[in-house]
Amino acid sequence: MQKLANLVGGSLQPSLSAHELEVWEPAVGQVYASAPQSDAADVEAAVATAQTAFTTWRETPSSERARLLHRLADLIERDLEAFAAAESRDTGKPLSLARSLDIPRSIANLRFFAAAATQFASESHAMEDGAVNYTLRQPHGVVGCISPWNLPLYLFTWKIAPALAAGNCVVAKPSEVTPVTAAMLAERSIEAGFPAGVLNILHGGGAVGGAIVAHPQIRAISFTGGTTTGRHIALAAAPLFKKLTLELGGKNPSIVFADCDFEAAVTGVVRSAFANQGEICLCSSRVLVERSLYPRFREAFVERVRALRVGDPLEPDTDQGALVSAAHYGKVMGAVATARKEGGKILCGGEPAQVHAARCAKGWFLQPTVIEGLAASCETNQEEIFGPVATLLPFEDEAEALAIANGTAFGLATSLWSRDVQRCHRMAAQLESGLVWINTWLLRDLRTPMGGTKHSGLGREGGFEAMKFFTEPKNVCLKY
Ligand code: NAD
Repeated sequence: MQKLANLVGGSLQPSLSAHELEVWEPAVGQVYASAPQSDAADVEAAVATAQTAFTTWRETPSSERARLLHRLADLIERDLEAFAAAESRDTGKPLSLARSLDIPRSIANLRFFAAAATQFASESHAMEDGAVNYTLRQPHGVVGCISPWNLPLYLFTWKIAPALAAGNCVVAKPSEVTPVTAAMLAERSIEAGFPAGVLNILHGGGAVGGAIVAHPQIRAISFTGGTTTGRHIALAAAPLFKKLTLELGGKNPSIVFADCDFEAAVTGVVRSAFANQGEICLCSSRVLVERSLYPRFREAFVERVRALRVGDPLEPDTDQGALVSAAHYGKVMGAVATARKEGGKILCGGEPAQVHAARCAKGWFLQPTVIEGLAASCETNQEEIFGPVATLLPFEDEAEALAIANGTAFGLATSLWSRDVQRCHRMAAQLESGLVWINTWLLRDLRTPMGGTKHSGLGREGGFEAMKFFTEPKNVCLKY
């Protein structure tokens, strides 16, 4: 059985308590590895070594920080197959997806912020009466990065890379549900030659996350995960005046107008609802369709969803793998039961999926599920499900589409499907959503601000937004 280690002070080690947690393989429903169950003592040790490392790291030229980040990217690229296999095994997602999305994007994150390290600049404000202000952007010191299980290495590197690029030392915690690729990253960071203590990786559950948030020497926290956890973190961090970015849950709409490119819309919305088993924060879970198109769209959509192949993540033609854990499987099945109770009509799915691979007999597989006939205000259409479940909702006109789209506590991502450019601009301006895609979904430019409004979060990641978050601006006013 694989035994994972923490990375503290440049060496791989168990937690100080030597406690361990089990790591499960979702496609087979069995434990296959163990990870350290860290606690506040491990956070203390990691912060101490990170503080020592910071005195040198903050003075390290940005070109050297960039070189190390590129070197780490090179090593993941070299071992891409091993990383993809590990990510698929740990999450239940199709190997083909880990190979084409998760790991390439993790490499891209490291390379993108390697470049940002050398290109980040700050402002100056000249005054007419003989003075100039310039902004120094200095790293905070030690920062905390906490990530979820759905895109493990992708989201972990999305935080760690800008934090390091900006000159901070890092104490990072991957999800306890999917710790394996973070442990592999720890090994590669040693091989890449990162100085001891610059990057520290602690495994464990919410308790160690809480200890990172509470540690007085950790100046900033970058968190991605659920809205409830985000609320706990905001409450814990507020009295300590920590900087925070919170990337939280969503209840994202896809809005399909009758004038859309029909084929592109059906294909795009199926992907946006069911990619990665629907376990992407940006997935659409509410599909709003203009009433005149509704019957035709519903028929084509359900047909395409029925055709999605649920199967062993290792098989190349698998579209949808296993849900990440027994607990999450139970939560999604519970949401389907709620939809039934609320009077929803299950158009397809709604049941455990039978997967033909014998090794997957005990895996957590669910048929992709489409539901209609529910009010926009019901629990199914208000609460995040975060699984392969989408609802269909008809609307009459733009005003109603907007009211339904904006009518939840969340505000993360929307995709609009229409050929009317003016309408798309109008809608984009009025949607309460951190991201709006028009006639596409999950097309990402890493320079753009990424994050949500309302209960979907606080602050933005991506591009120079991330570099700004991980630095403290200091105004210097010089009279001459
Ligand atoms: P989660 O909130 O349960 O856990 C996320 C991380 O927080 C894990 O590492 C966990 O151990 C840690 N944690 C738990 N309790 C903590 C505490 N009290 N203090 C500090 N850390 C704590 O989320 P999850 O179930 O792993 O991920 C799914 C959720 O993440 C969904 O709601 C999804 O929408 C959201 N998500 C959001 C984005 C985004 O960019 N907005 C991206 C991916 C996932």
